[in-house]
Amino acid sequence: MGYRLGMDFSLPEELLALQETVRRLAQDKIRPRAREIDLTGEYPEDIFDEFRRADLLGLCIPSEYGGSGAGITGLTIAIEEVTKYSNVLGLMLLLTRLPTGPIMIAGSEEQKQRYLPGIASGTKRSSFCLSEPGAGSDVVGMQTRATPDPDVPGGYILNGAKSWISGGMQADWFTVFAKTGDPASRHHRDISGFLVDASSPGVSRPRTDHKMGVKGIDTAEIVFEDVHVGPENVLGGGFSLAMQSLNAMRPIVAARAIGLAEGALMYATEYVKSRKAFNQTIADFQGIQWEIAKCATEIEAARLLTYRAAWLADQGKFSREYVPFLSMSKYYASEVAVRASGLAVQLLGAAGYMEDHPTEQYYRDARQLTIVEGTSQVQLGLIGKGVLAHDLWWD
Ligand SMILES: Cc1cc2nc3c(=O)[nH]c(=O)nc-3n(C[C@H](O)[C@H](O)[C@H](O)COP(=O)(O)OP(=O)(O)OC[C@H]3O[C@@H](n4cnc5c(N)ncnc54)[C@H](O)[C@@H]3O)c2cc1C
Repeated sequence: MGYRLGMDFSLPEELLALQETVRRLAQDKIRPRAREIDLTGEYPEDIFDEFRRADLLGLCIPSEYGGSGAGITGLTIAIEEVTKYSNVLGLMLLLTRLPTGPIMIAGSEEQKQRYLPGIASGTKRSSFCLSEPGAGSDVVGMQTRATPDPDVPGGYILNGAKSWISGGMQADWFTVFAKTGDPASRHHRDISGFLVDASSPGVSRPRTDHKMGVKGIDTAEIVFEDVHVGPENVLGGGFSLAMQSLNAMRPIVAARAIGLAEGALMYATEYVKSRKAFNQTIADFQGIQWEIAKCATEIEAARLLTYRAAWLADQGKFSREYVPFLSMSKYYASEVAVRASGLAVQLLGAAGYMEDHPTEQYYRDARQLTIVEGTSQVQLGLIGKGVLAHDLWWD
């Protein structure tokens, strides 16, 4: 029997306070910068500093490792606020959890002490290296290889290349998944996690990608050539660690999607109230009101899925039997973001297509969300399997 639906919809006082703080910061600091970051594509160091000063970089990190312990729910709420104006800055906050998640799940006490406080304080940044040019959805198809180091018991030597790594150029260290057995093997146990300092000999970052959106934090290729990883930096965990880490991330990616959808719909709604046509405002047309109503309903449905998924993940419920609930949030919210931003472009007409308004940026940025951390098709596959297995069932 899978998870049973609960009914408490109230947010605790401290999360309401966090929401209010981040909302103010987003309106004052992020809204005025969002377009410029998109146009220049330059890493927004100033906003990283704002996040650091506001103590937002350690939201998901427990207090014993220097974080504020607001959990995945806290991070979800913060990202929703930020992404109303900037998807890439939502990504900046997401990157405090994506590479640290495997450490929080499977790391040793020593690894937690060494890697988590730097992320919480903003003195270090990191990236999550899973995808490869030939292996995105098909994680088990990865070819990056970790062979035992003949000179260091328990150590490994890494060889391979990872692609599209968000924040790879700024990262001080990487969480890397590699095959410890034959690269042709599809055994789940032949995959292992490693913590690799970016300054290690043999690590290089030869190129960044030219992206459609989410500009300001590059995706990079990260190459590992005979990179020695000591036993103290082996996470282990197998394929299941990679999957559990991603399962716990579903609400956090979904938060970027609901924030973006809310921002796009709010912008378009204000516009149609002032735009005149046929001797009335565009907002006076019932056809327009219905589009707004349908989109608002979808956003609220996505929010509920997202908050529930965050709540589950915070209770450590991100193993296989919770996958449908977690994947649903990411799948549905990211599809809603694409629809909402598409509607926003449409509601503004020609103006919505031009750079004078943020709608075209919302639309480009939203397209990333149905691809990253498990495409919509991959999420549907996971949800479908969960229903077939009765992890999600209604009697
Ligand atoms: C902007 C950006 C940032 C990224 N950041 C990171 C990062 O930080 N770290 C990282 O490791 N990776 C990152 N990625 C990579 C991302 O996780 C992969 O792109 C994603 O997992 C999909 O893999 P793929 O691109 O190889 O697509 P493919 O796996 O080649 O899929 C192509 C198409 O086939 C479909 N498909 C694949 N398998 C199935 C199936 N079983 N059933 C039905 N349809 C299927 C997919 O849904 C998709 O539509 C990033 C990608 C982007 C675009």
